[in-house]
Amino acid sequence: MITLENIPPATVQYDEDVSRRIVLDRVVFTVYCPFLFKYIGKSHNKQAFHEWKEKFPKNIVRVFDYSNKNSMGIKFPTERWSSDPIESQEGEVISDLTLSFTAPYVGYAYCNFNRLYMKQKGINPYEDTYKFTNVLPIYLNDEKELLNEMCVTFSDHVQELKFIYSEYLKKIFDLDIEELARDLELQETDYTSLVEVSVKQAEVDVEFLGCDQVQFEYIAETRKSNYMLRCGDWTQTEYYSKNLKSIPIQFKRYQKGAGINRHEFTWSKDASRNWLKFEDPELLYESILLGISESYLKYGFQFEGIRPIKLDGESLLQEFAEWWKLSLDITKTIIYGGATVVKFDRTTKNLREKLQRNNLIVKLESDFGQKRGIYRFSDAVERIRQALNGIYRCPECNSLMDYDYEEFAHVCKRCNHRISYSFERCSHDTEFVKFETIEPIEDDEEVKK
Ligand SMILES: [Zn+2]
Repeated sequence: MITLENIPPATVQYDEDVSRRIVLDRVVFTVYCPFLFKYIGKSHNKQAFHEWKEKFPKNIVRVFDYSNKNSMGIKFPTERWSSDPIESQEGEVISDLTLSFTAPYVGYAYCNFNRLYMKQKGINPYEDTYKFTNVLPIYLNDEKELLNEMCVTFSDHVQELKFIYSEYLKKIFDLDIEELARDLELQETDYTSLVEVSVKQAEVDVEFLGCDQVQFEYIAETRKSNYMLRCGDWTQTEYYSKNLKSIPIQFKRYQKGAGINRHEFTWSKDASRNWLKFEDPELLYESILLGISESYLKYGFQFEGIRPIKLDGESLLQEFAEWWKLSLDITKTIIYGGATVVKFDRTTKNLREKLQRNNLIVKLESDFGQKRGIYRFSDAVERIRQALNGIYRCPECNSLMDYDYEEFAHVCKRCNHRISYSFERCSHDTEFVKFETIEPIEDDEEVKK
């Protein structure tokens, strides 16, 4: 493990051109219809409760109603990670809505915007390295475009939520708010203006790509002198604030996956309500940026000044190696070596399993001559190689090195120093014209964690 201590002070520099992205993660909304507070009572709707408890016993949950009293509610998923219809109850929940059985039937909605965004874009996270459905693949690195699109996703979701909520009021409570508004001769009678959505809590993440947690340890160092609470649990998450209840902005930082260092702000109370209220995606975009600046500032940092400490490629690869529980040599060979296809047998089963667990290899497709024990490196490996481009420094003269795609080597522009990663290649298997096939790469039992 690299620590700040073993980086000589003279070499501590900040990396100015690192990729960064801003994403919305898990958001909790309150959905309600303001005029109902005046026109219907505050009682528990027994009839609806018993009717729906019979129909959907598993969907009955406890909720706090708007006055913070314990009540009963009903929760339905509104979007799932599955091609099956919602009613099939299959697949991971992307968003859901809970309605209280106590009038005026305030709703609580949850949405995981990382998942929703991936679903809309047709990105399958199971095919990527991280296998989490709540982190975007590392190649999505256009900060502006991504946040723009996320803001559109967010605004659309808020609109949809209004519709779903008004439909649920009809279905569950036989309450048509548009009809009621007309009967009461209210000025606005359309559900879009009758239903209000406010953000109760939101996670807004700044993710630094191609970065490791050690590169931001200076944040912890700076915070130490203050009231920071650092929890050194196994996830290596660092909390920079005491607890969520007392403050509207919580800041924590952790490594979300190989090459993704996440600075996570949880906005609640006024921060979430005011900073994410816009239904206009453009204003929302500006509001999020401003909110992030204010959040960093609260902890004594300037958003635009936050940069990772520059590490050389070697140290970063070491971090990847530890993350994957592989040796540094194998890690280098995987990322920079020339092979696209690898062959495993019984003696290298252990290594194969490690690579599979980290989604670094996949079974070779049948078009290319699928065979027992034959795997190819996953697309994620190429993406990591690209993400690491331009960070590899020459051990001789400290200049940036270029990766030579034909020679599978890093070459120094200044002093011509070379680091070669090529596998010993065998060409006896002529079936794989498109690929180079290699014999088992050696397993290393020593690397354990
Ligand atoms: Zn050099």
